[in-house]
Amino acid sequence: MKYSVFSLARNAFSYHRNWPRAWRSPQPKPRYDIVIVGGGGHGLATAYYLAREHGINNVAVLEKGWLGGGNTGRNTTIIRSNYMLPANAHFYEFSLKLWEGLSRELNFNVMFSQRGVINLAHSDPQLDAFSRRGNAMRLNGIDAVMLGRDALKHRVPLLDCSPKARFPVSGGLLQPRGGVARHDAVAWGYARAADARGVDIIQNCEVTGIRRDGERVTGVETSRGFIGANKIGIVVAGNSSRLAAMADIRLPVESHVLQAMVTEPLKPVLDTVVTSGAAHLYISQTDKGEILMGGDLDSYNSYAQRGNLPLIEHVVQAAVSLFPFLSRLRLMRTWGGVMDMTMDGSPIIGKLPVKGLFMDGGWCYGGFKATPGSGWVFAWTLAKDEPHALNAAFNLDRFHSGRLLDEKGAGATPGAH
Ligand SMILES: Cc1cc2nc3c(=O)[nH]c(=O)nc-3n(C[C@H](O)[C@H](O)[C@H](O)COP(=O)(O)OP(=O)(O)OC[C@H]3O[C@@H](n4cnc5c(N)ncnc54)[C@H](O)[C@@H]3O)c2cc1C
Repeated sequence: MKYSVFSLARNAFSYHRNWPRAWRSPQPKPRYDIVIVGGGGHGLATAYYLAREHGINNVAVLEKGWLGGGNTGRNTTIIRSNYMLPANAHFYEFSLKLWEGLSRELNFNVMFSQRGVINLAHSDPQLDAFSRRGNAMRLNGIDAVMLGRDALKHRVPLLDCSPKARFPVSGGLLQPRGGVARHDAVAWGYARAADARGVDIIQNCEVTGIRRDGERVTGVETSRGFIGANKIGIVVAGNSSRLAAMADIRLPVESHVLQAMVTEPLKPVLDTVVTSGAAHLYISQTDKGEILMGGDLDSYNSYAQRGNLPLIEHVVQAAVSLFPFLSRLRLMRTWGGVMDMTMDGSPIIGKLPVKGLFMDGGWCYGGFKATPGSGWVFAWTLAKDEPHALNAAFNLDRFHSGRLLDEKGAGATPGAH
């Protein structure tokens, strides 16, 4: 059923009791052309674009829990393309353009809100670095605006711009087209649209092994039995290294917990996204009114979807330093997700060294904004057995060849990205 004002009105007559299910719950078939492991935004987007762009719909998405129950439903939803390295800039800008038409494309409101993303600078050298980044963005056709302290004060009145602030603000880099979206809606929208094109979405189906015949994959062992496949796409975020290990591959990926948290809801007070690298904080206000905050990783390795109190304290301290009014609010919820940190901070989207096996992962802090672009290029790679120009640089081989994509120049320190 097409969602529209007419279907809404029609269903109102039956008290909204007759809406059809948004996607089916089929039994797994014995064999598929392509099996996608992981029913987060990226896996579902990949399945959708396989069907939509390449006419391949004999596809299953296998999810061990529920759709979007991984990082897709746990992130702080910041969407931007303010990158400097050409490979990153072109890929994330492509993704941002897909976001701009996504609700219409999927016939599902993903609540994409282009309220702007501001990176705060706290020193003159940092302002210089942001000018350089902003110039590089504009040369790549991406919107970027430098803001002075007065402009920032005007744009974000509750930000402490006083000279006595714990993190004195020197200015900022704004990407006006950046913003936020409703995370669950992205998973649900892609799931519904993929299902409508014939993709089987199978929840509560954990992949426990990858079967091979010599150098080629033949299918996956799952909690619901063996499922044959010509090609397998691993799209499991923080579990990437576990899945790759099932095919005897060791990835340059470490898994860490990243936490986020919300305060009790307020009337609208913050109508943009603010980030501060120095204070380790990103903050925005949700449509429900909560102030949503995140910071750095819990520094130890873990596959658990929960973190510890010291990091929460660190984020709250940073938030109160920059926005003193927050000290009056209560923290309502905190949660965590498992991040797949690569050693250069950029993703891996491409073939693995076993025939028929592919991966899309290593998203570190920033894969939500990549969801549409990642699904699109990964579908291309699976369908054509070769990368698209937009993901050619994101190959696994770069860790051997040394052609790293180290946007921050921070090196192989996943805890510091
Ligand atoms: C707290 C936090 C804040 C973040 N903030 C941002 C942000 O502001 N902006 C941004 O761009 N990104 C952000 N991210 C990162 C972003 O959420 C992720 O990069 C992105 O959502 C990854 O999507 P995905 O579909 O690859 O992974 P997921 O949504 O994690 O999906 C992977 C799925 O694979 C399933 N799976 C795992 N193992 C198996 C198995 N063996 N068998 C079957 N299924 C399996 C999991 O259950 C999961 O549902 C944040 C992440 C966190 C945790």
